[in-house]
Amino acid sequence: MDRFCRKVGYLRVSVTDRCDFRCTYCMAEKMQFLPRRDLLSLEELDRLCSAFIDLGVTKLRVTGGEPLVRRDVMQFFRRLSRHLDSGALRELTLTTNGSQLARHAADLAACGVRRVNVSLDTLNPEKFASLTRRGQLAPVLEGIRAARDAGLRVKINTVALKGFTEEELFPLVDWCGAEGHDLTFIEVMPMGQSAVEERLDQFWPLSDLRARLAMRYSLTDMAETTGGPARYVRLAETGQKIGFITPLSHSFCESCNRVRLSCTGELFTCLGQEGSSDLRGVLRESDDAAALKTAIRAGIGLKPAGHDFDYSRQTVAGAMRRTMNHTGG
Ligand code: SAM
Ligand code: SF4
Repeated sequence: MDRFCRKVGYLRVSVTDRCDFRCTYCMAEKMQFLPRRDLLSLEELDRLCSAFIDLGVTKLRVTGGEPLVRRDVMQFFRRLSRHLDSGALRELTLTTNGSQLARHAADLAACGVRRVNVSLDTLNPEKFASLTRRGQLAPVLEGIRAARDAGLRVKINTVALKGFTEEELFPLVDWCGAEGHDLTFIEVMPMGQSAVEERLDQFWPLSDLRARLAMRYSLTDMAETTGGPARYVRLAETGQKIGFITPLSHSFCESCNRVRLSCTGELFTCLGQEGSSDLRGVLRESDDAAALKTAIRAGIGLKPAGHDFDYSRQTVAGAMRRTMNHTGG
């Protein structure tokens, strides 16, 4: 419980800052990644996650960077699955760019993963290659199919980008409808080295995206929330549920239930604030689980009221130099 009486039950863990893509809204083309010695070992990650679970975390999402490019990441999933077996953890899930999903989907399902979020901004192979700077669409689609075949529920996450997503909108909605995938749109957040210069140009408010969607479909607001930041609409024509995450045009911090752990053991209690607590030091100082839990409690106690992202007045406020791959999106 934080000082604003928000129950923190959801941990997102970045297992690496590395990635095989360089999405334009996430990373610089020439990324300097962290030295490997700075990264937590899989055993350290497991100790940390287990301490969070002991303290009441019931939902854990593995992310990055690209989590599936970390060597032996499946060992980590396998170990974490004991917390599903014991009932302490209700959900173990991951966010991935899908490039390596085809070879891991069945193992993920065997570890108790039931849902995956796959980031996909276009179904056009050329545009995909250009937006991700080095990614290929075909293996991602193959990964999504493999996930579905393995019984995993797939949610597609699409970042709304001005001058880009307008054309991708209907193909993505139609494809998700036909394939039975949930779809959520996310406003681009001002994170990363060039956040201030580039993100304002990239920002396409979801109110505009929604208006475009309404040109073709009848939208009905749904009362349902999952306790997270998404708000949902139902498309009358297809019955599809579409989510909107609007960190810029609308704040949802008062009900925020999540914290993030970076791959170096920093605890970030807000995606949009600089403050963090170092858990790696405590972890490497001793094997004492009690000391670790005290440090986690202290970190949670510092969770701020909310973020300050704001693109109004044609400037970017609250921008973060930290990139999304470091914090874990
Ligand atoms: N590599 C994996 C992936 O792309 O799904 C997991 C990590 S990625 C950082 C997690 C999510 O953050 C992705 O859905 C990505 O689209 C999103 N993301 C990255 N940079 C963003 C930004 N500046 N604003 C909003 N979302 C962003
Ligand atoms: Fe990699 Fe995901 Fe960032 Fe794209 S959004 S560069 S796939 S970490």
